[in-house]
Amino acid sequence: MSQRKTPIYITEPHLPPLEDFIPYLEAIWQTRRLTNSGPFHDQLEGALADYLGVEHLSLFANGTLALVTALQALRITGEVITTPYTFAATTHSLLWNNIKPVFVDIDPATCNLDPERIEEAITPTTSAILPVHCYGFPSDVERIEAIADTYGLKVIYDAAHAFGVRRDGTSILQHGDLSILSFHATKVFNTFEGGAIICPNEKIKRRIDHLKNFGFADEVTVVAPGINGKMNEVSAAMGLLQLEHIDVALEARAKIHRRFAEALAPVPTLTLLPPPPGTRWNHAYCPMLVSDDHPISRDALYDRLKAANILVRRYFYPLISAFPMYRGLPSAAPARLPNAARIARQVLCLPIHPGLGPDDVAAVLDTLLEVR
Ligand SMILES: *Cc1c(COP(=O)(O)O)cnc(C)c1O
Repeated sequence: MSQRKTPIYITEPHLPPLEDFIPYLEAIWQTRRLTNSGPFHDQLEGALADYLGVEHLSLFANGTLALVTALQALRITGEVITTPYTFAATTHSLLWNNIKPVFVDIDPATCNLDPERIEEAITPTTSAILPVHCYGFPSDVERIEAIADTYGLKVIYDAAHAFGVRRDGTSILQHGDLSILSFHATKVFNTFEGGAIICPNEKIKRRIDHLKNFGFADEVTVVAPGINGKMNEVSAAMGLLQLEHIDVALEARAKIHRRFAEALAPVPTLTLLPPPPGTRWNHAYCPMLVSDDHPISRDALYDRLKAANILVRRYFYPLISAFPMYRGLPSAAPARLPNAARIARQVLCLPIHPGLGPDDVAAVLDTLLEVR
């Protein structure tokens, strides 16, 4: 097995030409506006709302602070129904608000919260549902929101993976009471670190804008024990520059995904997971399942790729419900989460990012298909 000199990562930030960033920095030096709703911050809020097809959004320093703040903005308490098949930040945001997570199993076709299992998890203290659009695959928003309406629950989507995702022609971000995005360096659209809350109206945006600025409503009025969640001007400038290149980056991702799909089609034991029908997907990840009758195990395949300097990831293994701070919860019992447990055991996310050339994709496939 040959070891590559330069590693292939599952994702790499898409960096525009450095010289294009200099004028933004010069403007920041000139205005001396570094943060606190500066000109680039406000410009990016407008530009992103237009691009994403939503009414309002509030920028954040990162997606985790956006999640923590979204729960506070809607005054969520008690228990919240969520998925074990996600990144740690989803569930940690509940603990930061003294909320008890209640795990519900996923639908193996989409890796998202299974709507069939939600109702049986509702108790008198349930106040919200926190689904994730995992890999950018839209959750079953109609059925989730019908249940929420019946029981008077709020819905906050962790849409960290779902930048630009549309379903049947409209933005997936228009659903629920609030959605949050992450603009971390590893995500489809990045501002170094960053995030946002999608807000359905100006009133809720105003409350969220206060909450991300220590609760200040004006110079002398503090309306809540808010946090410091503000996005700075360098990050906002990065966002404005990224936005000019985002469509090219999304197309590059789609092309890489097509090549993997073609090459893996004849291999029945390695299956790429497709997005639900009607999705205009962002190809944020390239999730593949290694079936139990593949000649080598998922972990053996992971190790082979790693030995060849191809650094794939097992998103999402281990399940959040297996973490020490959650595993004692009754809803965390593995027997209650069979679909999530199986997918976590079989999944491997292949490299996908705009910097990945055809030779890189070929190298991944060579190693992947050495044993089949
Ligand atoms: C990345 C991510 C987050 C957290 O976003 P940060 O910007 O890194 O704080 C939250 N949820 C999911 C599902 C993520 O993948």
